[in-house]
Amino acid sequence: MSKPLSDHDRRKQISVRGLAGVENISQLKLDFNRHLHFTLVKDRNVATRRDYYFALANTVREHLIGRWIRTQQHYYEKDPKRVYYISLEFYMGRALQNTMVNLALENACDEAMYQLGLDMEELEDMEEDAGLGNGGLGRLAACFLDSMASLGLAAYGYGIRYEFGIFNQKIINGWQVEEADDWLRYGNPWEKARPEYMRPVNFYGRTEHHPDGVKWVDTQVVLALPYDTPIPGYRNNVVNTMRLWSAKAPCDFNLKDFNVGGYIQAVLDRNLAENISRVLYPNDNFFEGKELRLKQEYFVVSATLQDIIRRFKVSKFGSREIARTDFSKLPDKVAIQLNDTHPAMAIPELMRVLVDEEKLEWEKAWDICVRTCAYTNHTVLPEALERWPVDLFAYLLPRHLEIIYEINRRHLEVIAAKYPGDHDRLCRMSLIEEGGQKKINMAHLCIVGSHAVNGVAQIHSDILKATVYVPTINICHIRIGEDFIRDLDQLKGLCKYVNDEAFIRDVAKVKQVKYYLISTLQLQLCVTSNWALKTNAPLQFRFNSFNALSPTFPFMQAAPGYHTAKMIIRLITAIGEVVNNDPVVGDRLKVIFLENYRVTLAERVIPASDLSEQISTAGTEASGTGNMKFMLNGALTIGTMDGANVEMAEEAGMDNIFIFGMRVEDVDALDKKGYHAEEYYNRLPELKQAIDQIAGGFFSPKQPDLFKEIVNMLMHHDRFKVFADYEDYIKCQEKVNALYKNPKEWTKKVIYNIAGCGKFSSDRTIAQYAREIWGMEPTLEKLPAPDDKQ
Ligand SMILES: *Cc1c(COP(=O)(O)O)cnc(C)c1O
Repeated sequence: MSKPLSDHDRRKQISVRGLAGVENISQLKLDFNRHLHFTLVKDRNVATRRDYYFALANTVREHLIGRWIRTQQHYYEKDPKRVYYISLEFYMGRALQNTMVNLALENACDEAMYQLGLDMEELEDMEEDAGLGNGGLGRLAACFLDSMASLGLAAYGYGIRYEFGIFNQKIINGWQVEEADDWLRYGNPWEKARPEYMRPVNFYGRTEHHPDGVKWVDTQVVLALPYDTPIPGYRNNVVNTMRLWSAKAPCDFNLKDFNVGGYIQAVLDRNLAENISRVLYPNDNFFEGKELRLKQEYFVVSATLQDIIRRFKVSKFGSREIARTDFSKLPDKVAIQLNDTHPAMAIPELMRVLVDEEKLEWEKAWDICVRTCAYTNHTVLPEALERWPVDLFAYLLPRHLEIIYEINRRHLEVIAAKYPGDHDRLCRMSLIEEGGQKKINMAHLCIVGSHAVNGVAQIHSDILKATVYVPTINICHIRIGEDFIRDLDQLKGLCKYVNDEAFIRDVAKVKQVKYYLISTLQLQLCVTSNWALKTNAPLQFRFNSFNALSPTFPFMQAAPGYHTAKMIIRLITAIGEVVNNDPVVGDRLKVIFLENYRVTLAERVIPASDLSEQISTAGTEASGTGNMKFMLNGALTIGTMDGANVEMAEEAGMDNIFIFGMRVEDVDALDKKGYHAEEYYNRLPELKQAIDQIAGGFFSPKQPDLFKEIVNMLMHHDRFKVFADYEDYIKCQEKVNALYKNPKEWTKKVIYNIAGCGKFSSDRTIAQYAREIWGMEPTLEKLPAPDDKQ
């Protein structure tokens, strides 16, 4: 495998990767050999590369344990306010390198492995990605956990331990084919099962109304078994916990009316209960109202709230000091952040616990609930909004339906008093949508039940510092020190070197690492058609692409049931087949679809790219996060004024970003006027030619009709109005190409972009959430380092 630097160079770096003391290295080697022997039960004659990975992972993991236990003891003793980040997705990627970086062990481990004749990067490559997310929403949750630990917040991530994460994408004959992501097959060295904290979760049944309160009875119980994963902060000795729940059938599952012959069937049926945590729904920005998904949502919420309340009760404000738990203190000690509406059931569930179980009055419970919960909205697309049929709720969660009705009754009462006679408003704001099948609008439930609502772009936000690729760090820290890793705003300091020739050369050199990275992807750059070159008419679709000028690397994953998205992948691969084999185009243009995009691939691809395409129609992307990752890693952006692109333009300066296309107001105006794709098609000859070629089978000679439906969609029912931005996009690409011919000027703009990234740090975002939403103060203090060998 090619590497950006030789082993010798890498060992010489006294960079931010941590110093490699000699004692450290010999201890690591001992620990590694001990794990190979005692944990993996192998010797070096029979050990596989995977065994070596596990031995290294276990070695590194040991450095977390003391810090993890100490951090949790510290929280118990200090009893700070806790924040609970509940999410159906945590897109963690790999843990080994992240742990080594945060614990400053990377250099020492690298050297130890080298001395043992092993290549650390090869071992790192054996780790399965924890792909428990679809995209931005799940990756944001993962970054936030990292930032909360790095800022010393007493934080917990709560989610589901899916047995199968996001599917593995194979491209076969140009088509996407999904494979199950059996990520736990070889075991997961980073998790610890905690069967002693198993919780029951109820489903189905009915409610009984008694004078002393409501009872939810005749339910089916599924157990939630927690698995804990350590979340280390950046070099501050803090290790927080991500707790993921796995579904377990109780021992008596389906055995209550046991009779002869029923036993075997009852044991086999345990699978039905355990299916709850079987698989991540592979829908990004799309609501699919499946019963199993609603079960997942309630499962994580119910188990998590039981845990939160147990922890509150044993804390100082709970029964430890006062005889009876004082729930009025709950909002002072607990913040619950809902990552989109997926965990919205936390609101009615908290009400059920407080009212039905803890016997609080409704008004008091409601006040506590609202002051405890906060909600983050992730999308403006209507097809993504969760609207659950009332019928399904009545069947699966009958008590919660009653509670939601009561929340709504009181909510509408307030609105009716404020706006007498305004029936339209009542309908608009109701939690229940009438008309046809009655549905519960989960976003409305979250807004009514939370004290803070934020969108992902307005409040600015997110970016993973995890994606700050090492070569970038090494150059930057020479100039501005390494404090920017804790405070990304310090990247602003780079601006004063924008005319420094040596610095420009260094930055350009860092970006050239892309060729090594591309070779690690084992991409075959051998192909082509002169279509795009002759017509100069590249298509634009809603995918991310990174463009190494001129090879273009689109990547996207289609939800398995999303037909149009799958057809778009097929079109991209078909264009590649033609373009890449055209002798006239030669090597000047390649279209290479990157298979199986995931966190690990993003970490390689993003730092290697020169141009990031963020080309959503204005008003359709809530924020985007990939856009910021590219910017931080030295790509320039071509994009519309949408989502966080707006703030990126503000931070880098309009001169340093390629903005094109309609603004939101233009899109609204076009909607009023009426969008007609054929107007653009008739007016723009290049566009016409491209569309005609796609429709006429130029890219699918064996199946000339293959892409007719895509063309039909673009011409007759394209809700994204792609053609309206086409002309300006092409003009803008010409500007990109002209600038790329001048590497020095290009690199200066890169520097302004990197320097402008401070606002997009997830540390900064979390510090703001802490102060403005959770009423907590982040701390940059370190916990004392534990004696690892204790
Ligand atoms: C950042 C990220 C995403 C989200 O990218 P957007 O451009 O915000 O849609 C998806 N997948 C992976 C692996 C990521 O790292």
